[in-house]
Amino acid sequence: MLIVKKFGGSSVADKERIFNVANRILEDYKAGHEVVVVLSAQGDTTDDLLEKAKEISASPSKREMDMLLSTGEQQSVALMAMALETLGYPAVSLNAFQVGMTTSSTYGNARLRNIETDRIQAELDRKNIVLITGFQGVNRYDDFTTLGRGGSDTTAVALAAALKADKCEIFTDVDGVYTADPRVVKHARKLAEITYDEMLEFASLGAQVLHNRSVEMAKKYGVELVVLSSLTRAEGTIVKEETKVEKMLVSGVTADKNVARIAVVGLKDEPGKAFELFSLLSKKNINVDIILQSIGREGTKDISFTVGRDNLKEAVQSLEEHKERLDAQRIEVDEHVAKVSLVGAGMASNSGIATKMFEALYDAGINIKMISTSEIKISLLIDEKDANEATIAIHDAFKLSGEL
Ligand code: ADP
Ligand code: ASP
Ligand code: MG
Repeated sequence: MLIVKKFGGSSVADKERIFNVANRILEDYKAGHEVVVVLSAQGDTTDDLLEKAKEISASPSKREMDMLLSTGEQQSVALMAMALETLGYPAVSLNAFQVGMTTSSTYGNARLRNIETDRIQAELDRKNIVLITGFQGVNRYDDFTTLGRGGSDTTAVALAAALKADKCEIFTDVDGVYTADPRVVKHARKLAEITYDEMLEFASLGAQVLHNRSVEMAKKYGVELVVLSSLTRAEGTIVKEETKVEKMLVSGVTADKNVARIAVVGLKDEPGKAFELFSLLSKKNINVDIILQSIGREGTKDISFTVGRDNLKEAVQSLEEHKERLDAQRIEVDEHVAKVSLVGAGMASNSGIATKMFEALYDAGINIKMISTSEIKISLLIDEKDANEATIAIHDAFKLSGEL
């Protein structure tokens, strides 16, 4: 059997954790399986590297940023290879260049395009345990790229698809996917199974337990995933096309703090303003999420919307530059917001669900700034400081009535 195993940063944070993971890898190897392991950078390494860059430059080039960030994963795989060798087993570490993992050219948020399997296969044939850097790729200029925060999950799924692996296991610091972040909501329930679609929605709305692109890719190539803990033996959560479990109306609550709100105030109330405004942002590839337009009053209107915090600076800059042409009076920014979302495939046909969500926040005294609904989710924009309390309040309300 060929098994792809991915271990996140906290699972390899220090010497003890590295040997713990090495021993878990060896269980499969000793059982006669071929093992390909994807690792993230140790602990807070990626954050520390980001800080280091900031000390040197306020706006470092994206190419050099990826050159720097890709070193974190390289440390992990080399150290793990050493640990396995110390334990007396053959292992080899490879980075994206050595494997031949190519991506689109966008630094910082590249998409995996292709994975060569020859080198990996050759190493497996030599009976090596193969350790591969997560999160990184190589673009057509032969430069390192990174796949976006949390991207090692995507490396693992892509490898599992390319190698036609029999199993793809994602090990992390919680023992599965829960109805809400178990670090925030004590009574969150572990899901035995979850569909790709629900998991994708969850991941895209802020549940960082899986990188959203990894779920997209797993669905596309039919890779069944298991999310498990590297520290316990608990059964994890299986992510797949269809689940046997009886469908619940809602599947969970999640919060996203990587959000900022921009309000363009005092726009002329005439046709074409929204088009003009959002064209500016789409030209810069900036994704806009919740959009709210006020009722026109005395010939003017306001349009507010949310963007990812990493896009805020660029978005505001572009709007400020074109303020006159847009006929806007001013641009306001709120960086301290968060988006809490309720996710569930059964929501479309049930109007009581939104009401219950609003009631939960009312009872907790939390103000709602914006609302957005779709077939399978309801998202509310609130103050960032209320994010955890709101997640708990909403989760508890639905748990109480047996819907979670
Ligand atoms: P890794 O370093 O292993 O990739 P991450 O920090 O990226 O780990 O993801 C695991 C974290 O995801 C958990 O520690 C947990 O706090 C968080 N999380 C958020 N939402 C959920 C959820 N619904 N179920 C499980 N974990 C969640
Ligand atoms: N080390 C990278 C990060 O911190 C990738 C990952 O952990 O998946 O975002
Ligand atoms: Mg992660």
